Amino acid sequence: MVRRCLAGLFGLVFVLAGLRAAAAEPLRLTVSIPPLQGLAARLGGEGVAVSSFMNETQDPHAFSPSPRAVASLGRSALLFTVGIDFEAAVCEKIRQAFPGVEIVDVSAGLSRSPGVACSEDGHAGEAHAGHDHAGHDHGEVSDPHLWLSVPNLLHMAGRMAEALERRLPEQRQAIAANLAALRQEFEAAHADYGRRLEGLRGAVFYVYHPSFGYFARDYGLVQQAVEIDGKSPSPRQLSALIAQASAAKVRVIVVQPQFPQRSAQILSERIGGQVIAINPLSADPLGAMGQAVAALERTRGAR
Ligand SMILES: [Zn+2]
Repeated sequence: MVRRCLAGLFGLVFVLAGLRAAAAEPLRLTVSIPPLQGLAARLGGEGVAVSSFMNETQDPHAFSPSPRAVASLGRSALLFTVGIDFEAAVCEKIRQAFPGVEIVDVSAGLSRSPGVACSEDGHAGEAHAGHDHAGHDHGEVSDPHLWLSVPNLLHMAGRMAEALERRLPEQRQAIAANLAALRQEFEAAHADYGRRLEGLRGAVFYVYHPSFGYFARDYGLVQQAVEIDGKSPSPRQLSALIAQASAAKVRVIVVQPQFPQRSAQILSERIGGQVIAINPLSADPLGAMGQAVAALERTRGAR
C-alpha cells in the first residue's frame, strides 16, 4: 500500500514537473529587424523568446540572412515582418522549407509614403499625395522605414498582440495589459514630441540615409536625404546640397552607423550645423525618435 502510494506520488511529481517545463518553455519568435524585437519582447514578456534576423549595425538594404539563420527559423512559431527589402526572398524560402512558421506582416494596413528614390527633386511626395495608386504604377519606390513613427509603431504593436494572443491564449490578459501599457507610454511620448516640435513646422533636417520620412510626416517636418541614389554625393552634388541646406537654414544632420558619414560631416562644417548619430535600427525606436526630437528642439532658437 505504502509502496503503491509512493509510486503514485512519484508519478504525480513527474507529471507536475513535465507541466512546469511545458509552461516555462517560451514561444519562439523571429522578427526581421531589431525595432520589432523591442516591441515583441515587451508584448510577450516572459512568454516569448524573440530573435532578430538583423542586428542593429547591419544595413537592411544590403542584408541577406545566411542559410544557417534561415534554417534556425524552423524553430520559430511566428515571423514578424515589416515589408523591408530582404524579407520577400527570405519569406519565400521559409514558406517552402517551414510551412508551419506563421508569417505576419505587422505593417499590413499602414499607408506608405512614396520613397525618396523617385523624389530627387524633393516634390514627388507632394505631387502624389492624396491620390490613389491602386491599379497603376508611377515606377516609384515606397518608403519602407515605417517603424520610425509612433502611430505606425502602435499599429504594429496591435498586430503583434493579436498574433501573440492567438498563439498564447492562456496569456491573453497579460498580453492585453502589456499592449495597454505600451500604448499609454507611446501615446504620451507622441504628444510630448509633437509639443516640443510645434514651433518647428516646415523645418528641414538632413539625414544621410532617408529613414525618417514618417517621423517627418508625423510632426510636419521636412526630411532631405544626403545620399543620392543610395550613394554618397559627388563633390558637385555636395556643393549643391550645401547651398540648399544654407538656404533652408538646416541645422541638424542625422547620420547612421550603417552608412558613410564623411559627406554629412563636410555638410555640417559648411553650414554650421550639428551632426547627430541615430541608429534607425535601434531595438528602441521610440528612444531613437526622442534623440531626433532633442536635436531638433535645440535648434529652435537658431531659426
Ligand atoms: Zn533604409
